Amino acid sequence: MKCPVCGDLCIRDAPEVIESVPSVFSRCRRCTFRVLDKSIPLRGRFYATPCECGKRFIDEVFAHLYVIMVEEGILSGNEPLKAVGSPLLHPGFFKAGPPFLPKDSLVLLSPLVTGSAAERIIKEVPEVRGVVRSGDFIPGATDPSLATLPRTYELLAGCDVRAGVFPTGAGPLVIYVQQSQMHIEFPRIDNPKIRSVERHLAAHSPAWCVDACSGAGTLGLCAARHGVRGVVLNDAWYAAAFWSATNLHVNRMFLRTGEVRMLFSCRTLREHPVREDPVLVAEATGEQSIRVYQGDFRQLWKVLPEEPVCAVLDLFEKSDTRKTGDAIREWKSRVPGEVFIP
Ligand SMILES: [Zn+2]
Ligand SMILES: [Zn+2]
Repeated sequence: MKCPVCGDLCIRDAPEVIESVPSVFSRCRRCTFRVLDKSIPLRGRFYATPCECGKRFIDEVFAHLYVIMVEEGILSGNEPLKAVGSPLLHPGFFKAGPPFLPKDSLVLLSPLVTGSAAERIIKEVPEVRGVVRSGDFIPGATDPSLATLPRTYELLAGCDVRAGVFPTGAGPLVIYVQQSQMHIEFPRIDNPKIRSVERHLAAHSPAWCVDACSGAGTLGLCAARHGVRGVVLNDAWYAAAFWSATNLHVNRMFLRTGEVRMLFSCRTLREHPVREDPVLVAEATGEQSIRVYQGDFRQLWKVLPEEPVCAVLDLFEKSDTRKTGDAIREWKSRVPGEVFIP
């Protein structure tokens, strides 16, 4: 599948990504490594180049980035090494030790980086696939009332599409996002939201499952991977709807459906960053029926089957119990079945 951000082959089918997991960040016998203290400045302006196998220890990549940022005047040289930013691995998955990075395997998030430094990093640091300027807010749709337009980080250079591998009881799911447009989900060995969904599936064996605020689609696709006959994924934010649809395509071989029909390109969806009335974005039919919508979850009842559904409301502002209570009550007044916050 062609990448909507860079046009390259960034998006691969789930089995290919899953097969890469055991070896993608492991070293060869010739790989050397030097563990650097991230809480102090880099001593000297030295960094090692990649091994002949093409990989380099993450700390050396950080040293390389630090040197570029000092030369570009972003850092003075007195900041700790970790001031370089947050490294997001591609593919991301739970891993015990620090990684040896192959080419194009890291998206750098930094609040300080400039456009010219980002261009230089993409040209000179082979492990970095994208540089994103981050802000002190969470990107994507965070306001359930949809009153404020979602904010995004800024992709300065390269491509910020990356995958995460999320274990479920039915096998792993591969979930892609464009990182500047979506909040960051770290794959963990134990994912409480996935476990919560699986508990509900086991207790109720629903015919339909609805992931009403789907983000990149992890929880809805988890239900689909467990074989639930009908699954609806929905999000008001265009990027979430697009990546939910893409992730349905990426994981289609684990489902009992035919090919996935994508009804919109990413660029067309972006023309309506937020939608209220649900619009069908993608679908796959067969023994299972999986549909992806872009719309306000409060309007989703309009397109749901007239039978009980098991609905997951993964609201962003869970801490506001009054708002979540209102959302649950409103949902229950429209849709038969059960609804829960994962
Ligand atoms: Zn790309
Ligand atoms: Zn090596």
